[in-house]
Amino acid sequence: MTLKEENPTINLPKSLDQLTTTQEIERKTAIGKIVTYTLKNLTTTYIKEDFQWLLPVVLSQSTDPLWPDPNASIEKRIEIDIYGKPVRAMTSMIVHKLVGASTVYPKLFTLAPNIRIEKADRGKTGKHIYEFTQLDFEVQGATSKDIFAIVEKALSTLIKDLKKDLKHELLAIDRFDALFALESPFKILDREDLEAKYGSTWEEDIVAEISQPVWITNIPREFYDFQDFTTSRWDNYDLFMPQFGEVLSGSKREYEYNKIIEKMEQHGVRKENYSLIIQMAKEGRLKPTAGAGLGIERIVGYITGVRHIAECQPFPRVPGIVHQL
Ligand code: AMP
Ligand code: MG
Repeated sequence: MTLKEENPTINLPKSLDQLTTTQEIERKTAIGKIVTYTLKNLTTTYIKEDFQWLLPVVLSQSTDPLWPDPNASIEKRIEIDIYGKPVRAMTSMIVHKLVGASTVYPKLFTLAPNIRIEKADRGKTGKHIYEFTQLDFEVQGATSKDIFAIVEKALSTLIKDLKKDLKHELLAIDRFDALFALESPFKILDREDLEAKYGSTWEEDIVAEISQPVWITNIPREFYDFQDFTTSRWDNYDLFMPQFGEVLSGSKREYEYNKIIEKMEQHGVRKENYSLIIQMAKEGRLKPTAGAGLGIERIVGYITGVRHIAECQPFPRVPGIVHQL
């Protein structure tokens, strides 16, 4: 976290028992209704597009290495032994998505809890929480452009429907007029061009400039994102929205054994944690897929315009703060 990112004046979200005035409770109620509507609307869109809804897992041998990701800042990883084997709290369901979409569920989504014990100094960024939920989806044979179209449709539908059906709640939190219809297709920008223009602060600079969502492509990160080894370009993307910036990350995926091994070795990833997908890739059973994960609290944070996305959680998970519930 850079100092510029931190907002020292931010009021940290309260736990439910600390909400005492009618005004505080009415605000929390309106946000809760917006969360419910958002989940219903997004899942309906995916089901209509023929996706299967998978229930999430919480503990697993394989989870997201979150490395190398320029934005990762993890204080501690949760690993325990069960039945004599080490398992980890899920940081994301990426590995499960790759296997699921390659085998039984060619179009899948899940609403998955992710546990990432962010460093305590991220408590006041307003956009980091240590438990959050991703609408994580994956499609066999899809290209990045296919994923853009799915996300653009889902989010444009959501905002349009919210303004129609939840006007009362949006007005109650003074957000109705500030929430604009989304203009698709969203603009696409290349990370290299942004770095050339803004330098290392490109993320904050672009967030400050936009009033509509933008795709940012070609970002160096984890082994499972697709990289063209001849040009070194990454076929991946983030979706940036005003206020909180990145709300979604995704990519076309690696599925070839040699590339996966080469990148794991380059990144110092522990191969023994990924032996299943390595074996499937070796046998040609890992299929080309593409997908993304949308942070639910970040998108609801954008919709509601809260100062801290933990305000959208019934039980706030602010880095550095552990409430009893
Ligand atoms: P990532 O796998 O890190 O790209 O995360 C996918 C999405 O989850 C991001 O685009 C965010 O919307 C959301 N996300 C990631 N980390 C956090 C966090 N600490 N707090 C809230 N949302 C997060
Ligand atoms: Mg990301």
